[in-house]
Amino acid sequence: MSAADQNLLHHDTVAMTVFAQDPIVLTAGKLPLFAQLAVPAERLQRGPRGHRFHVVDVGVGTNAAAAPVVLNDGDPWTYRDRWDADHRPADPALLVEDADFRAQNLFAVAAHTLALFERHLGRPIPWQSRYPQLYLVPRARIEANAFYSREHNAVLFGWLPATGDQPSLYTALSYDVIAHEVSHAILDGLRPRYTEPGLPDQLAFHEALADIVALLSVFSLKDVAKRLLDNGNGKIVFPGDEAAMRNPDQEVGRRLMAEWRAAELKATPLTLLAEQIGGRRTPAVPGRYPALRRSVDLPASSAWTTDPAFLEPHRRAEVLVAAFLQTLVAIWAARLDPLRVDQDGVDVNRVAEEGVKSAQHLLGMLLRALDYLPPAELEFADVIDAVLTADRRLASDDDRGYRDKLRAAFAAFGITPPEHQMVDEDGDAAPPPAARRTPTPYRADPDAKTRGGIRYEHLNLAALRTSPEEVYQFIWNNAGALGIDVRLTTRVERVLGSTRVGPDGLVLNETIADYVQILRALPAELPPGIDAPDGLPADEPVELLGGGVLVFDQFGRFRLHQRKPVLDVDRQNRRLQYLAKRGFRDGGDKRRFALLHDGEDEQ
Ligand SMILES: [Zn+2]
Repeated sequence: MSAADQNLLHHDTVAMTVFAQDPIVLTAGKLPLFAQLAVPAERLQRGPRGHRFHVVDVGVGTNAAAAPVVLNDGDPWTYRDRWDADHRPADPALLVEDADFRAQNLFAVAAHTLALFERHLGRPIPWQSRYPQLYLVPRARIEANAFYSREHNAVLFGWLPATGDQPSLYTALSYDVIAHEVSHAILDGLRPRYTEPGLPDQLAFHEALADIVALLSVFSLKDVAKRLLDNGNGKIVFPGDEAAMRNPDQEVGRRLMAEWRAAELKATPLTLLAEQIGGRRTPAVPGRYPALRRSVDLPASSAWTTDPAFLEPHRRAEVLVAAFLQTLVAIWAARLDPLRVDQDGVDVNRVAEEGVKSAQHLLGMLLRALDYLPPAELEFADVIDAVLTADRRLASDDDRGYRDKLRAAFAAFGITPPEHQMVDEDGDAAPPPAARRTPTPYRADPDAKTRGGIRYEHLNLAALRTSPEEVYQFIWNNAGALGIDVRLTTRVERVLGSTRVGPDGLVLNETIADYVQILRALPAELPPGIDAPDGLPADEPVELLGGGVLVFDQFGRFRLHQRKPVLDVDRQNRRLQYLAKRGFRDGGDKRRFALLHDGEDEQ
């Protein structure tokens, strides 16, 4: 696309140049990696400011504000990329210090990330604030950190001025950091209750999603994987290939080749998060780039479940990130099997192409599952459950075995989908009592008798698509069949339409309704079996949360129920014990979504 061809009315997207990896990550030719991101076209105002993002270059706590950056060509409907391959300065250091480029880099990566989520979920996603724009502040504070602040409806990016031999560090130039923090903001809009005091998996999922999006979305940027893998001759060398091919047992040789190649692919910068910040904070590993996190190396085992270090959200998140990345490299290596090995390596184009396909597929599986996650009380097992269920709905075939491999990777970390939690339309609407994991404290509601399964009488199907009241009527009339105890406060919080497209082009229109159940009680009055932890003040009410997602197809037929019952005695006890151990301090951490937690800052 030529510079003159970027009319914002005539194109769906425009191409904006950004750093595709931290500026310290270099190709074999010792150049940083640029990419032209497809950014949704819209009227582009100074800031830059579009209808979802507003870049504001102010220092937090100071009155110093830089002039808004103009990316348009004097006309808000014409964009011109001033930093494409023909126009950017030869010395990348000049770009790092260019405030206009920084603004474009930040705006483009943020808009590209939001577009990725919206494309997979098939609908616009609101910010938690319900304001149209999220603020992006490129030089908010002097620190090698960044965080999403719900309070400010903003992502605040830190920076460090150049000192001695260290160049300046702008987190707003890091693709990983921007994608990570904007993902927090997006998930907070989708699932605002995930910041309520809950089990440690919940905040860890926030971190895991943010890391997985940052890492896997890079693969979809044109040629970035290829340029990172290229040894300079258009090849990638897998050192184990030769030995594997010499193995007298062909089957064993093939298996070893796949394993060794997977190990090699694990070591590429594509699996590393936030290299530049990592370089300032983590000990150097000879021959490898520094990184804030290299979760792909986490050994698969369930040891984390009893290790207190894994209660910290970023650390705990690495379990999910590792499960996804290890699945990625395994599938990627398996897809390389038929590729020809020449004397000097394997064709890097083909290797990159297979990596791009695998990464896009896995990321799509995760993003398309987000609407199937429970609105409250999320646990890791729900994540794999939602991913597998959503994928089965959208892709009945799974030739490459993504589902089995992902299920196996989670199982290797001790995470398995719960029995009968996601209730399918083909089975019962609620799990039979014998399949329930834990006893419920109360006897069944005598008034909630079912009459031959799910009933649709008295429902207005058009209203069911948009109206919480209509969905509540559905719940009310089917309380027994759905296993929802409506004697407890039950509120439908959100009803929305989603149009998702599966990997093979299958289009699925669904209505998705979230409900929550809240039970507030003094410690002495908690339901039988749910025990107030020691040290809880007797006069402070305890809040128990539960809820679920109801999915209807385009004809208004009930299809799925993702349930987290509020009266799950086992889960509520685990939650109360965990919160008690943390001194019930979970509520007010304003820097909750910092890239690093303050404890790490001191290291
Ligand atoms: Zn984070």
